[in-house]
Amino acid sequence: MRTLLCATLTAIAALALAPSQAAAPAGAHPPESELEHSFRDGISAERIGGFLKDLTEHPNFPGSAYAKRDAEYVLEHFRSFGWDAKIETFSVLFPRPIVRSVELLGPKPFTAKLHEPAIPGDATSAQQDEQLESYFIYSPDGEVTAPIIYVNFGLREDYAELERQGISVKGAIVLIRYGRLWRGGKVELAAEHGAIGALIYSDPREDGYFQGPTYPEGSWRHPDAVQRGSVLYGLYPGDPLTPFVGATAPAKRLPIKEAITIAAIPCLPLSYADAEPLFRALAGPTAPEGWRGALPLTYRIGPSTAPVHLRVAFRWDSTVLYDVIARLKGDTYPDEWVIRGNHRDGWVYGAQDPHSAHSAMLEEARNLGQLYRAGWRPKRTIVYASWDAEEEGTLGSTEWMEAHFDELARKGVLYLNSDVTMTGLVQMSGSPSLEAFARDASASVTDPATGLTTLARAELAAVVLGSRATPTSPIAPSADHGVRVSIDPPGYGSDHHAFVARSGVPTLNLSFFDDSFGGSYHSIYDDYAWYTRFNDPGFLYGRATAQLIGTAILGFADADLLPLEFTGTAHEIERELGGLKHLYAAYRGRQQRDETLLDSGAYRALAPDRVPKIPPRGAPAAELDFRSLEAAVARIGVSAAHFSNALAGTRLTGATRAATRRANAALLATERAFLRQGGLPGRPYYQNELYSPGRLWDTVPFPAIGDAILDGDLARAAAEVPRAAHTLDAIAAAIDAAADAVRAPIPPIPR
Ligand SMILES: [Zn+2]
Repeated sequence: MRTLLCATLTAIAALALAPSQAAAPAGAHPPESELEHSFRDGISAERIGGFLKDLTEHPNFPGSAYAKRDAEYVLEHFRSFGWDAKIETFSVLFPRPIVRSVELLGPKPFTAKLHEPAIPGDATSAQQDEQLESYFIYSPDGEVTAPIIYVNFGLREDYAELERQGISVKGAIVLIRYGRLWRGGKVELAAEHGAIGALIYSDPREDGYFQGPTYPEGSWRHPDAVQRGSVLYGLYPGDPLTPFVGATAPAKRLPIKEAITIAAIPCLPLSYADAEPLFRALAGPTAPEGWRGALPLTYRIGPSTAPVHLRVAFRWDSTVLYDVIARLKGDTYPDEWVIRGNHRDGWVYGAQDPHSAHSAMLEEARNLGQLYRAGWRPKRTIVYASWDAEEEGTLGSTEWMEAHFDELARKGVLYLNSDVTMTGLVQMSGSPSLEAFARDASASVTDPATGLTTLARAELAAVVLGSRATPTSPIAPSADHGVRVSIDPPGYGSDHHAFVARSGVPTLNLSFFDDSFGGSYHSIYDDYAWYTRFNDPGFLYGRATAQLIGTAILGFADADLLPLEFTGTAHEIERELGGLKHLYAAYRGRQQRDETLLDSGAYRALAPDRVPKIPPRGAPAAELDFRSLEAAVARIGVSAAHFSNALAGTRLTGATRAATRRANAALLATERAFLRQGGLPGRPYYQNELYSPGRLWDTVPFPAIGDAILDGDLARAAAEVPRAAHTLDAIAAAIDAAADAVRAPIPPIPR
């Protein structure tokens, strides 16, 4: 979480003593409406627990025996709540493994178990025949035999370190530890460096015994637990065979060999119990300190003394997905959709991921249905979506977004997502224009552990955990609490991905999160038994999640003027530019350091016994000039202030519906202005100039420019700067137009 800190600790202390005052400083928030109040009171933790139990009794991954049954359960519940609900199906590529094998050959042979055992006291862990194998979906078929080399997290800088040490992964199988980068990005980088296979393992340092007692004694990763996952390469999300279009029955499909998001080399995930014997087979130099995990051995880079035989083969079938889509029709603006979604599929049981928040979503829907039956009508149409196949690469949400793309462009006003939620602090991420709105929603919900509002608790925690603030975070005085928690960028790790990429619909993610996330992620142990001990015993944060998100949905659906504003936008874009400059400075710094070391002969002095490799002298780099971006950011700041003034003077009373619609259209156009026509270089799917992921699905500021810097292509980076500045100018112009539209929402005189 990014935080903005202020030094007024006296104010904080006063706040801690008077939480009720902190929760609602005079005039800081609009008065709570009766409706929102009764909505929040009606949310039941017990019912959330019931939904979670029902939907995690068996595995629920796409293609499982229970996938359709679960969709029908959700459909029937929405209908019983009074919603107009249906199932939309898509047919997607869903390979299942036929062969998975990792063998260490040589004098001390070892065969990886690739198996998660049943655990006494954890009933569902014993349903071994129903569980999905541990594997990487969208690995290609392959059989390779080669020595292994350890590459740490498998980041760009890790390969640079190997190069400095004169070690090449060409023709090797790389052993990579989980963390710091999307696993598909790790496999892609390994392939780009010439590896022919990849094994990604969970080191106990990240989520095993280094963190705390392991399952079942504690919440951290069991030695045999495997993190399954998707290894899509980041050119587009969703079904690999149907980019840009919904995977409906008549959709044209790519031949599998032309599906460019399928990984380039065979790969498998490993538990740390299976990884340890492979580490023991590594020879070569001791790994640098930052590369060492928590296994009880000396971490060496390799290569291994004996080769490893890796073999994977898949049945390349398609599977039917079931998205459950439910509507409550609006009575004032029925053609404007407030959409809220959460995925329903887990890798196996998915109690934490995704049913922690999916069960909250069902309870919101039940309660909204109650209000509807009692006579309330939302002004806008509310659309709830229970997505399928998020885990494989946001397939259910992406295919739906693509299938409804044109209608969504006309009608979508919000996509609000959740996924994992747990005991902890409120998390807000999404379109920066929703910062004030998201803060207001979190200020209206009580934190179960402290009785503070969830916003006040997060802001107080920010004082204590101040070191978490990123170095580029501006430090600003606070309006309310002496500290200010701002909204994070939307990211791309869940079902909002495709919406952010190209829909132009504002997005928001709301949840609760804590560092004690635990180690059941994507294993068979992410189940009811684990969840009710470690994630959210009593479902109290499930209830807070439903209260928070339902409040936001009610507020957005019923506001005549859409609650967007742009001071957050100006801050956030300035912060992104700061991040880009930082990235460039770091790149130049490394380059200059290498040149200095070359000139001084320092490399030769380093380790004469090891003969370090002398890096090639790079071509002299062009300097990047960010002045056009700085000027555009300044213009956005001016436009945002201009909008705030206009909004302060707005009187909607007397405005016609048509005039309000025009103002709202102008507001929504500010979000569409983030989209670059034609998309980012080499990745036409991604149009969002600021919030598309990098090509490895990593977080990269101004991805068109940032990716070019990371790839060492400064000429391309320089060419992208004016294009990005053009997008920023369009954002400033759209905010100006929105200011004009809200200043005078008076119907024009008929001519
Ligand atoms: Zn999830």
